[in-house]
Amino acid sequence: LAVRGKATHRDTRRLNEQLVLRTIYGRSPISRADVARLTGLTRTTVSDVVDGLLAEGLAEEVGVGPSTGGKAPILLRVPADARHLVGVDVDDDKISGVIVNLHGEIQRREAVPISGRDGERALADLDGLVDRLVAGAERPLLGVGVGTPGIVDTAGGVVRWAVSLDWRDVPLADRLRVRTGLPVSVVNDSQAAAMAEWTFGRHPGSQGMVVIKVGNGIGAGIVIGGQLYQGESSGAGEVGHSRVVPEGARCHCGSRGCLEVVASVRAAVARAGALSAVYPGSVLGSGPVTFESIVEATQAADPLAMRVAHDVALPLGRVLGTIVGVLDISDIVLIGPMTALGDPWLSVVTDEARRSALPILAQRTRIHIGHVGPDVVELGTAALLMNSELGLALAA
Ligand SMILES: [Zn+2]
Repeated sequence: LAVRGKATHRDTRRLNEQLVLRTIYGRSPISRADVARLTGLTRTTVSDVVDGLLAEGLAEEVGVGPSTGGKAPILLRVPADARHLVGVDVDDDKISGVIVNLHGEIQRREAVPISGRDGERALADLDGLVDRLVAGAERPLLGVGVGTPGIVDTAGGVVRWAVSLDWRDVPLADRLRVRTGLPVSVVNDSQAAAMAEWTFGRHPGSQGMVVIKVGNGIGAGIVIGGQLYQGESSGAGEVGHSRVVPEGARCHCGSRGCLEVVASVRAAVARAGALSAVYPGSVLGSGPVTFESIVEATQAADPLAMRVAHDVALPLGRVLGTIVGVLDISDIVLIGPMTALGDPWLSVVTDEARRSALPILAQRTRIHIGHVGPDVVELGTAALLMNSELGLALAA
């Protein structure tokens, strides 16, 4: 851990604290001597820093380890409930939030339905949900993390443009900071999800990861070497509005033929309607088609549903092939409602991605469904806050 330039005494102390905390968090239970050995800090510095962490409740003593000749060493760990965090996922149709501890365990949940595109209303609903979670917290809160669709300036905490909510230049972090008095971080939802899969998803051997969230919107988050790569204006991974069909149908972003128009949940429903005349025997022919009905029909291998799963998977697979070529990355993780289509969808995505990249690159890329589950965005915002507020590097 290099301290460059004119680091003040306070900077050094903070960096040492973060280094010690990170070591205890990642290696617990661990003795002060082992923390010193692993960090390269002196025994005295480690003891000083640990005293501070004990006083703040960020470390605790948990018995003694084996003696190596002298007195048996006291072991330390970071209590899971030393701090709690609020994590929020702003989605098309609902805002959900959780209180989570430092081990990523959910303590409490809240949700409120929203009707997309009423941006003001959604903001008020978000305020209310955050207020309820903060009021119900039973431990000191480290902060509030919010994942939202769209382009987010994470450094400034501003939602630059969220198409589905019609949010433009909304200073979300300031708004919630004033409201709660807590640190607030705002991040694109797919980027948050990527951090959650990286941190909590148990993908052994992974060097880097692209996580693609496929719902009504489509977005990606990129983790390289344990760090979220957000690009120069925080827009890295915004693949949903890449044009994949020249002169295709119009998209709500104003363009045409975007990936979201042909590969999203909404696209699947539209495709089922458009093809129903071609498959008169399909179980989907007998009523209004919903995405849930397509999922069910796919499980029964209904020919129309299988065709729909195939047709929405192809363009996504092609885009994944491009991503493999650009990033040469070991893991592509698919999450979001679309993954409910299961293998008939996943196998086409995978085959098409492999066909769309150089075989030497594509053969080592693993494409699979995410492990974290429905709280993935909330957990990702919490992981990012733990990183920014406590320096807990959560790399697997
Ligand atoms: Zn678009």
